[in-house]
Amino acid sequence: MRKALLWASTNPFLAERLPRMGFVKRATSRFMPGESWEEALTEAGELATKGMGTLVTLLGENLNSIDQADVVLDEYLGALQDASEAGLDLEISVKLTQLGLDFGPEVAQERLRRLAESTPFLVWIDMESSDYVDVTLEVFRNVMLTNTNLGLCLQSYLRRTENDLESLLPLDPSIRLVKGAYREPKEVAYPLKRQVDEHYLQLSRILLKARLNGGMARPVIATHDTRMIESVNRMAVELGVGKDDYEFAMLYGIERREQHRLANSGHVVRVLISYGSSWFPWYMRRLAERPANVWFVAKQLFRS
Ligand SMILES: Cc1cc2nc3c(=O)[nH]c(=O)nc-3n(C[C@H](O)[C@H](O)[C@H](O)COP(=O)(O)OP(=O)(O)OC[C@H]3O[C@@H](n4cnc5c(N)ncnc54)[C@H](O)[C@@H]3O)c2cc1C
Repeated sequence: MRKALLWASTNPFLAERLPRMGFVKRATSRFMPGESWEEALTEAGELATKGMGTLVTLLGENLNSIDQADVVLDEYLGALQDASEAGLDLEISVKLTQLGLDFGPEVAQERLRRLAESTPFLVWIDMESSDYVDVTLEVFRNVMLTNTNLGLCLQSYLRRTENDLESLLPLDPSIRLVKGAYREPKEVAYPLKRQVDEHYLQLSRILLKARLNGGMARPVIATHDTRMIESVNRMAVELGVGKDDYEFAMLYGIERREQHRLANSGHVVRVLISYGSSWFPWYMRRLAERPANVWFVAKQLFRS
């Protein structure tokens, strides 16, 4: 089921047709407050009243022209402006392919730099499929030379990630650690959940230790896996890393109770809200993470 859903996430035929079906669109309400920026902003305000920050991402991936990268750039610049006027603790998380990476690293790099220059807050870079890792690291390093308010996502399912993380530590980076959401060959990614989880904890330890030694700006543990969360909290206590020195991040609509529990117990929590109309590949990846979610889509079909 997982493989089929990840295959569907990259299929242009399905991406064109399925989103037009009302029941599929209705099912997305589980994972996003709405397609519009206004709905995302309103939800960010709601989360702020519950003591949680927001990370916002405009859905969409590879582009057909450089002009589309400028549309994305303008959208994010507008969002940052609105958030600053509303006084919200809101950061953005961008995909470099959405900023034009397929037209050359310098295309995405230039637009990323413009985003970083326009805000005092951190601009996060999503990590996409493994083909993009080298170039994403290159763009991150280049922009960090002039703008240090950048954060980077790393994936624990990739075998290479420990080396990548070690090589980034001299930059005093902000790192968001996730398990990884794409379909990858076993040569590059651990095929077993147990291996991905073990690697996740190993990498979390490196992040926390680096934070303790002053070599990590912001370590972010981005998972809904309560076993990972508990283990990282135990690890932090054991290493003497304070609650303010690391953060948790989760996706809107997933493990809400855990989000509130962590925020209420004094942890820093940020919720990632996605918005925009190009939600198909992203939505398929959410279904693949938990095929039980497919029942939710099926229920919408029966209702309609
Ligand atoms: C803030 C944030 C940013 C992310 N950025 C990226 C990125 O840039 N690149 C990237 O490749 N991936 C990214 N991801 C996705 C990530 O790689 C995982 O695919 C996703 O978080 C699911 O893995 P998990 O850590 O929650 O653990 P899992 O072991 O997959 O899940 C643990 C438990 O969490 C719950 N759960 C997890 N996913 C779902 C779901 N979809 N629906 C319902 N319940 C669920 C279930 O209870 C499940 O048992 C991001 C995730 C987060 C939270």
